[in-house]
Amino acid sequence: MTDGERHDDWTNWSGLLTARPAARLAPGDIGALGDAIRTAPGPLRAVGTSHSFTPLVQNDGALVSLDRFAGLIDHDPAAMTARVGAGTKLGELARAMHAVGQAFPNMGDIDRQAFGGALATATHGSGAALGAYHTGVEALTLVDGAGKVRDFSVTKNADDLLAVCPGLGAFGMVTEVTIRNVAPYRLHRRRTSLPIRALIDDFPARMSAHRSAEFFYIPFSRMALFITSDLTDSASTPRPPDEDDAAVVLLGRVQRFTGWLPPLRRALLKRAVASAAREDYVADWLAVYPSQRNVRFNEMEYHLPIEEAPKALAEVIERLETRFPGIYFPIEVRTVAADEAWLSPFYRRPSASIAVHHTAGLDHRPYFAAMEEIFRRHGGRPHWGKMHSLTAKELAGLYPRFRDAMAVRRDLDPDNRFVSPYMARLLGVER
Ligand SMILES: Cc1cc2nc3c(=O)[nH]c(=O)nc-3n(C[C@H](O)[C@H](O)[C@H](O)COP(=O)(O)OP(=O)(O)OC[C@H]3O[C@@H](n4cnc5c(N)ncnc54)[C@H](O)[C@@H]3O)c2cc1C
Repeated sequence: MTDGERHDDWTNWSGLLTARPAARLAPGDIGALGDAIRTAPGPLRAVGTSHSFTPLVQNDGALVSLDRFAGLIDHDPAAMTARVGAGTKLGELARAMHAVGQAFPNMGDIDRQAFGGALATATHGSGAALGAYHTGVEALTLVDGAGKVRDFSVTKNADDLLAVCPGLGAFGMVTEVTIRNVAPYRLHRRRTSLPIRALIDDFPARMSAHRSAEFFYIPFSRMALFITSDLTDSASTPRPPDEDDAAVVLLGRVQRFTGWLPPLRRALLKRAVASAAREDYVADWLAVYPSQRNVRFNEMEYHLPIEEAPKALAEVIERLETRFPGIYFPIEVRTVAADEAWLSPFYRRPSASIAVHHTAGLDHRPYFAAMEEIFRRHGGRPHWGKMHSLTAKELAGLYPRFRDAMAVRRDLDPDNRFVSPYMARLLGVER
């Protein structure tokens, strides 16, 4: 079969999901990828870096890595566009683009994911006027379920492009993408601590007063770390060491030490948050966004209509602090601009994203089920790569173009080569 075949076990980043695929392939060119899609044992799932928490990749058929479709292929300085391999890791891509005078307008928390994986799940950063990665896509090439090469672009078939990206690896395997970039920029990054009440009461104003704003609520502390980034022409200053992982370890220790003693826990946390809070530096865009995430967790994130976020967040905190004393991971809150992609959770809706985390290896289900009830009641749409319980029936009600997208999918993958049991439930495909 195609080059790179192996039969290893597979596991996702958090270690929760495993599989023993019948084949693992890493085709080196588009012809070999087409052959693999036609002949490998099905179902086939594209794999990036396995950072998704949902079983999008988990599969007993063939796992197909696009790692060899990597790098900056070319760029157009006048149009400020770049053509890139979909297997490129975000960090490598950012460095290659920076070197030729281009930049992503925004990035998420880490830069380890494959670009194709980030696009497939609507991966995003924070910023009321900043869209998820897929909003920069001008054109893409994928190999469909029949092994045929298909091209999509904003100029030739804009509607189809909106249907296939983000595409969950269900429309085809994306090999290369043309993205619209911006000129490299410098950011003034600040981190302060604020009472959570102030952020909830004044949510829209505080979140939209900066190019990018986000916050982490520290459970049981009534305090949040508020992080903002704004454009600046000032010279770079040293970036303080990334201590996010150490902070999570410390929060876990405080939780174990104080047990179920909320006043003691609150007092200790307040002091820790205040002393850890301040951060103030200037750096190039690509040095500001990514953090280290080495402490493993499972995660649920829902994208809510922005006006619902303050109420939903207050309920999330109340429920966490009355029913889940063991939780110490911060709650992350971000905003994302609306877009037009059919399977984007931000489809025609300025959104606020609320993310809850749970220590990997422990039972996350009661906590996530309790949080999901709140997110759903407030009209949330789940992050495709983060844990949720929805299937096609509920998703069709949340996505006005869901059925249209499925019609395009059927045309590209009539034999359901990309449909694993999980994907069948997610997309409502009879197998
Ligand atoms: C520590 C951590 C931090 C994170 N931070 C953020 C964040 O800040 N913001 C955010 O929105 N999300 C975040 N995520 C979620 C993550 O960005 C998504 O789950 C993303 O899809 C992972 O990319 P990946 O390359 O690992 O893809 P995988 O998990 O390997 O695959 C995800 C999906 O993409 C498909 N796919 C991959 N490559 C291709 C391709 N070339 N063509 C077609 N389909 C393809 C797969 O089939 C699958 O359906 C984070 C996850 C972790 C573990």
